[in-house]
Amino acid sequence: MADDVLIVGGGVVGAACAYFLRRAGAEVTIIDRSEFGKGCSHGNCGYVSPSHILPLCQPGAIGNTLKSMLSGSSPLYVKPRLDWQLWSWLWRFAGRCNRASMLDAGRARQSLLDSSRQLYGELIDSGELTECDWHTIGLLFVYLSQSHFDHYGETNALLEKEFGLGAKRVANPELQQLEPALKPNVAGAWLYECDAHLRPDRLMAAWKRALEKQGITIKEQVDWTGLEHSGGRVTALNTSVGNLSADQYVIATGAWSPQMASQLGCTIPIQPGKGYSITMERPEVCPKYPMIFEEHRVAVTPLSDAYRIGSTMEFAGYDTTLNRRRLDMLTAGATHYLHTPVSNSPRVEWYGWRPMSCDGKPIIGRVPKLSNVCLATGHSMLGVSMAPATGKLVTEIIGGQLPHVDPHPLRVDRF
Ligand SMILES: Cc1cc2nc3c(=O)[nH]c(=O)nc-3n(C[C@H](O)[C@H](O)[C@H](O)COP(=O)(O)OP(=O)(O)OC[C@H]3O[C@@H](n4cnc5c(N)ncnc54)[C@H](O)[C@@H]3O)c2cc1C
Repeated sequence: MADDVLIVGGGVVGAACAYFLRRAGAEVTIIDRSEFGKGCSHGNCGYVSPSHILPLCQPGAIGNTLKSMLSGSSPLYVKPRLDWQLWSWLWRFAGRCNRASMLDAGRARQSLLDSSRQLYGELIDSGELTECDWHTIGLLFVYLSQSHFDHYGETNALLEKEFGLGAKRVANPELQQLEPALKPNVAGAWLYECDAHLRPDRLMAAWKRALEKQGITIKEQVDWTGLEHSGGRVTALNTSVGNLSADQYVIATGAWSPQMASQLGCTIPIQPGKGYSITMERPEVCPKYPMIFEEHRVAVTPLSDAYRIGSTMEFAGYDTTLNRRRLDMLTAGATHYLHTPVSNSPRVEWYGWRPMSCDGKPIIGRVPKLSNVCLATGHSMLGVSMAPATGKLVTEIIGGQLPHVDPHPLRVDRF
């Protein structure tokens, strides 16, 4: 590929696009209005999880969310406000809370998840991505109550039947042996051996090293503000440092993507879904496995020299505050499951805005009205897990090659 490509957004998605485009021969520049890797890709839970096939929009999701929000202790929260974009997003989301849409999204997600899991393995084994605290032990979905544990059996059966993905059911006393950090009152867990995890900030440092080694230019503190176009092609991007031109443009601006939708002449139904994490030293009895405590919607990630608790989903617009109540809910949630839910070390508290698409599928492909612009956004809760396949797919689309995953369900003009 002989093209110059300008990528907007130095998150995990922009980084993966840059890597594969350069590998295909393109001259690549990344710009970011802030620092490379400091957006949502920085402090997330670091799961690379092919298990996460099903989207948030599932049958019953709206009713369950409203019910848990009314209970006052819900990790899911929609800040009530007059925001046309939010209500339009919720309307579209509600329209997809049915079995057919869920399975359709599941298929599209699975193709990106499986391909990415394999690509991570290759990139790490070949030494292209180094020192990102990569672990392939698997992931446990843990249930406190027997009824929720048993109920997940139905989801597991569906995943097995429709997607060929089965988890291992682990009840006590086997669970206690497998994961001694769990309290004995926990009913059971489902083990996904296919999942892996890593430390996201180290992954972003690893991407940066790999990109710079390939000669990719990364320009930080460069804000994209508009564009020039002619004949259905972008001729330059207006930025805080002047106009920047390339043959092709990739927009990988995560949760900020809808802010430029009118410039791009397309609909980008994404809402920032705010989540939090708390990082600390490993507690005395540190989990061996990364675990999701489904009933409290809390995730824990054991790292080589650290430990992270994360999650919550707040639709509160581009709100930059750290909500103490939600942060406390993370540690309180983990207390139900773990002997030592936290350590007494200093803690780093963080929030990130997930780019939540209304149908649970990323938005990847050419912008209909601008033939040299490709979108790569809307990865919702799975940007880390789906980034390598996204980068490969964007490269194939720009290079006019046969795509390795079906791009049709991900296309921009589906909205
Ligand atoms: C608490 C939490 C836990 C999570 N856990 C996981 C997990 O375990 N596994 C997983 O796969 N995913 C997880 N996610 C989701 C994942 O973090 C995101 O899907 C992913 O980081 C999105 O990557 P991105 O590159 O699209 O966006 P970002 O990382 O946010 O990058 C976008 C970049 O674009 C830049 N930008 C935006 N607008 C402009 C502009 N106009 N000009 C220039 N630059 C611009 C921003 O500065 C930013 O650096 C989690 C998220 C949260 C909040």
